[in-house]
Formats: sequence, C-alpha cells, structure tokens
Amino acid sequence: MCEFCLKHGEGKKWYLQAANYSEDLLSDIRRRRFIENFLTKTDHLSDSIRKLETLAKAPAIIKSIVGRLITRKMKKDHFGQVVPIEDIERIFEFVNSVARVPCVCRLTTLGEDKRYCYGISIAPDGGKFGQIIRGLDKSFLGGPDNLALEQLTKEQALADIRDHEKEGLCHTVWTFGTPFIAGICNCDRADCLAMRCTVTHQIPVMFPAEYITSVDPDLCTGCRQCMRLCQFGAISYSAANKKIVIDKARCYGCGICRSLCPENAIGLQDRKWN
Ligand code: SF4
Ligand code: SF4
Repeated sequence: MCEFCLKHGEGKKWYLQAANYSEDLLSDIRRRRFIENFLTKTDHLSDSIRKLETLAKAPAIIKSIVGRLITRKMKKDHFGQVVPIEDIERIFEFVNSVARVPCVCRLTTLGEDKRYCYGISIAPDGGKFGQIIRGLDKSFLGGPDNLALEQLTKEQALADIRDHEKEGLCHTVWTFGTPFIAGICNCDRADCLAMRCTVTHQIPVMFPAEYITSVDPDLCTGCRQCMRLCQFGAISYSAANKKIVIDKARCYGCGICRSLCPENAIGLQDRKWN
C-alpha cells in the first residue's frame, strides 16, 4: 500500500474509502474556503508556472529544497494520484452525484474552457460541494453557474471519462484539504500543471497509481500504438526484439496504453511500494 492508503485508507485503497468523500469534512470552513479560492482565484496557477520556470534555473540544491517543500505542502492541501479506469468505476459505485466543471489548468495554459474535470460527491444532490460551486455564481470562471456546473448521471460521466482515455488522458483523483477527495481530472503533460510540475520539473504533486503495467511479449506484435498514449515516456521500442519495453521506474500505472493495444498484450498488476 502507498503512504496515502496507510494514512487514510483504513485497510483499503484510500480513494475507495467513502469516508474521504464525506460531507462532514466539508464542515471545515478552511476547506470550503480553499475550494472556493482554488476555483475562482486562478491567478495562482499563472504564478505557479512562473515560479516553476524560475526554479528550473536555480542551483540544484535550491531546486531540491524548494521542491521538497512544495511536495510536502501539496500532500497536505491538494495532491493527485493516478487511478486506472477500473478504480474510477469503483469510485462511481459509492459516490452519488457528479458535476462536470471547467478545468482550471486548461483555462490557464490554453485560455479555453475544457470540461475534463468532474466534481464528485457522496450526497445525491451534490451536497455541500455542490453548494460551494453553485454559491460561486457568476464569478466561477466567468460564467453563469448553470453553465459552469453540468450535473451528469454517473453513466454519462463514466462514458465521457472512457472517451477521455481514448484521447490519451490520464485519470487522477484530487484532494481539497487532504484527505477530502472532491475531484476526478483527466490530465495530459502539455496542459495539466500538476503533471508538468511532477514529470517535467520532477517535483511530485501527482503520484503513481497503486498499479504498474507489464507487457506480454508473446502477444506484443510491436505495432507501437501504445507508445502514442504514454504521457510518462515509459514505453520504448526494441528494434532487436520488435516489441515494446516498459520502463517500470517511469510507469505511473495509468493503464491508458491498454486502450490502443489491438492484441490485449498489456496488463496492470499491483505496485510494490518500497
Ligand atoms: S506505460 Fe505505464 S505510464 Fe505509460 S501509459 Fe502505460 S500504464 Fe501509463
Ligand atoms: S499496442 Fe500492444 S501489440 Fe502494439 S506494441 Fe503496444 S503492447 Fe505491443
């Protein structure tokens, strides 16, 4: 089990623990304020991009110290973990309401309203989380609240999330005041700031899945379709064997590579944490 399961899972994967989605956690006014600020004061994301670019030019020792501080803070406030589609389906077995909302990362990086993010709640009507978003009114990303908050059935949301997978987007769950989980995102390396921070700048704020992948060499034909989808640069091609090779140190266990494999040659196994 990973450190988050040990701390917040009570014997389960932490994101399959319904208590981490509970309405009680939203009684905390600081957590509510954090969510409101996160969604409305999006300037902090542009600031983060500038700071990361400055940090990238700093001496290694400074990068290392500041990077650790960022990771520590994000684990406390707002971190993500990669989750394969099977576990997204398990989450949808116990959450009771799903709302699609604009992605604040894409709003910052692309200047566009891309609906790749899903607010999830254990309450059938969105509960306190829905109230927070509806309460943001017109200030919420510049639009009327009924446009910014699309209520979906769980079936609709899952179908859309499966479509995002075919686009090569990696599913992640996110805390808002750890351990409270309120969001499922669909990330890519170019547009998602957390993935940029984690993969490009090597400052972890988004963590690998509870799984890791492997390829069956007897089934792999070396077509290389899977390579197109890996956001983490974990797949390479062996010209000698005419098959792909997965770098276990780089694989985040998202399972996205499976969706294009015509031979069903890629599987997920439980990750062994050190
Ligand atoms: S190789 Fe690993 S990280 Fe890359 S797409 Fe497959 S599961 Fe995800
Ligand atoms: S898509 Fe499947 S068959 Fe093609 S290279 Fe990847 S693992 Fe092998």
